Amino acid sequence: MKRPEPGMPAAWWQALWPRLERRALARHDPSSVVLFVALGWPMLALIWGLQALALWTPLADGVFHQGWLRGVHLALGALIAWLTGVAVLAWRARHQPESAPRLAAAALWPGLAGLSALCLAYGLTDTPMCMVLMAQMVFARALFSWRQAKGPMAAALGLALCMGAWMLTAGTDTSPLLAQPVYQGQGMHPWWALWVRSVFAVALLPVSLALFYFASLLARRQSELETLGRTDALTGLVNRREFMTRLTREAHRQARSGRPLSVLMADVDHFKRVNDNWGHPMGDQVLAAIGQLLRAHTREGVDTAARYGGEEFVLLLPETDLAGAEQVADKIQAQLRAQAFLAAPGEVFRVTLSAGVAQVVEGDTAQALKVADHNLYQAKLAGRDRVVGSVAFPARGSAGPS
Ligand code: GH3
Ligand code: MG
Ligand code: MG
Repeated sequence: MKRPEPGMPAAWWQALWPRLERRALARHDPSSVVLFVALGWPMLALIWGLQALALWTPLADGVFHQGWLRGVHLALGALIAWLTGVAVLAWRARHQPESAPRLAAAALWPGLAGLSALCLAYGLTDTPMCMVLMAQMVFARALFSWRQAKGPMAAALGLALCMGAWMLTAGTDTSPLLAQPVYQGQGMHPWWALWVRSVFAVALLPVSLALFYFASLLARRQSELETLGRTDALTGLVNRREFMTRLTREAHRQARSGRPLSVLMADVDHFKRVNDNWGHPMGDQVLAAIGQLLRAHTREGVDTAARYGGEEFVLLLPETDLAGAEQVADKIQAQLRAQAFLAAPGEVFRVTLSAGVAQVVEGDTAQALKVADHNLYQAKLAGRDRVVGSVAFPARGSAGPS
């Protein structure tokens, strides 16, 4: 699908799905009620239509107890009318989330307990009614909170269990609506052949769609969560945990290949003064700007720029020796020095940062971090806004990736 240009409003159909998803997943929105009814409606309408056919044509002669069928048909008509009414009300109240709990109860109780009664009249095992009931259960659980759905779900299951127990004790395997079993040994009555196939097909479509949808939604949510777990919220850089993972991976590669690998630790100079003079939000803006600067000076897909903590940043620079890493630090420092931050109209300030660089040797990451930190400290001692670098030779007896 073609994405809208940045800044262009999305076409209504492109905006529809995410909006629907947000609302349905909020689970306290009247839109959930509309969706719940809309998903189950075709199945119920089909069964109602088939019952009408059975009542007014000779197609199902001898299949049902006529009195029962008339009663069930009436009850199903009332259920469909009730659910349709609730859905219309929910659609009208779609911008009033406070009405959602009442509407949800009005849809869920008859939608599940009423449907369960209907399914029992047909028999859960003889016909695909168990699938119809299962579909509504899945929709209820997906679209509403557990607190809202558990009562009607328990009632529906309770009814089914009671019915099962009654059939066992009464010694019958045919439900009260049916005048004869659906399966009679040598194939189905033509009526049931039609019934089973059409109800099964109509129930299968929304269930499959819903299952596919929820599976892809879960996968999408999981990858979003994983990205969130790797990212620093303020700067958008990767966080310390992800940096350490990548550092270990690169160190193993470095130990194997012998290719250069450097780490750069940077700390904003006198950052406390920025907060004290211009306020914490301004401090946050500066950190975000430094994040952008670091990203701009790192090679996408090769280097890693991370927020190490507070106002400290780290760069992981594969295929880069000490001299190269020091050059990167110089460039970043020069750029930051030149950048003016506007605190208020006419009030401009600048910030600098100090950097400690270490080239990794024999994959010894602990030593590299220790040396980079030490070099950063030396840069601070020497007057800040400068870079100090050295090769991180492993301490005796500690060689190898750590
Ligand atoms: P030095 O040059 O020695 O590094 O001095 P400094 O003031 O930068 O260092 P210090 O460690 O004394 O102060 C760091 C300050 O950074 C203190 C802390 O409140 C601030 N800071 C840490 N994280 C954040 C943040 O997320 N946002 C803002 N605005 N400030 C932060
Ligand atoms: Mg610091
Ligand atoms: Mg600092």
